[in-house]
Amino acid sequence: MLRKIILPVISLFSILFIVGCSTTVVQNIYYVKPFDWHPKENQDSTISSYSMFYKGYTIFIDPGHGGTDRRNKGPKGLAIEADLNLKVGLYLRDYLQRAGANVIMSRDFDTLISLDDRSKMANESGADIFISIHHNAPGRAGDIFTNYTSTYYHATQKDYEFEPCNHDIAKYIQRDLAYSMGNSGGLGSFDGTYSDYWIYPGAGFSVLRKTIIPRVLVECAFHTSEYEEQRLIVDEFNQIQAWGIFRGLGKYLRQGIVRLASIDNLEYTTSDPQLKIFIDDQNKGIDSSFCIAQINKEPAYFIFANENNQKLLIVSPKSPLPPGEHELNAIIKNINGNHSFPFRKKFIVTN
Ligand SMILES: [Zn+2]
Repeated sequence: MLRKIILPVISLFSILFIVGCSTTVVQNIYYVKPFDWHPKENQDSTISSYSMFYKGYTIFIDPGHGGTDRRNKGPKGLAIEADLNLKVGLYLRDYLQRAGANVIMSRDFDTLISLDDRSKMANESGADIFISIHHNAPGRAGDIFTNYTSTYYHATQKDYEFEPCNHDIAKYIQRDLAYSMGNSGGLGSFDGTYSDYWIYPGAGFSVLRKTIIPRVLVECAFHTSEYEEQRLIVDEFNQIQAWGIFRGLGKYLRQGIVRLASIDNLEYTTSDPQLKIFIDDQNKGIDSSFCIAQINKEPAYFIFANENNQKLLIVSPKSPLPPGEHELNAIIKNINGNHSFPFRKKFIVTN
């Protein structure tokens, strides 16, 4: 008798258990807490180990959208892009500040700032690097499947306006952000970094075109994905997203920043000037096999030199320059592959 009761009861529990499990699997979300982020002691020690790379740098964080611009939403209306961008931005600010970096934000509350103002603020801020934070949507309305992590840089390698340092920063951030979230980088790119000309040929994104300091734009994931929306509304997951950006940027900085610091003269009385540019490579070493030197967008002669322990790049025109204003563009890279920060200078020939 007892057996007769127990068996059906066990069977009923089994059925409930199986149904329960399968329901849970379908609805459940999955993400991993990075071991260098959780528990808190690990997070603290990771941040302190990155502080030597972040010290002295100012990072400009630009959480996209906000205020009345909050149309971009997930399929259930739970994930609102403007809010996600701000959340990730604020968590990123926290990690950066704990690592000793200075942080400036285009917005740290729910408000709308124009695209022009975001770039203007960044250009006038004195910040070293600009990161615009967004979440993505597919071209096709109703697509609740597409989801990947991508990071954008301005222009393409063949364009004069292309700054390879932006691509460097994008690669480092993309790798760690995508890894932290457990996402791929999409099928349109080998490593998940994309030129903004891929979206708007010849123009790119306004914030990347009008900002002149080193800059990238991250599309952390698709808020339009039915699955991703469920993760994006979890606060802990937003922290992990910010952590990925923090770690990626820290690894970029670890490889060293190269700056063409200054030029010895901006006015020349000869049609064949030797432009002497001072290099600050943080003593990481320069890869002297690489240099892009251009005057008025045309290739120029260049030579690396050393004067009183000061590394120099000397650029001269391939043909005599007429009197007037000219533009120099120079890009070098360090032995770790990091390209120099943008260095475009106007100079005058008065011969
Ligand atoms: Zn956006």
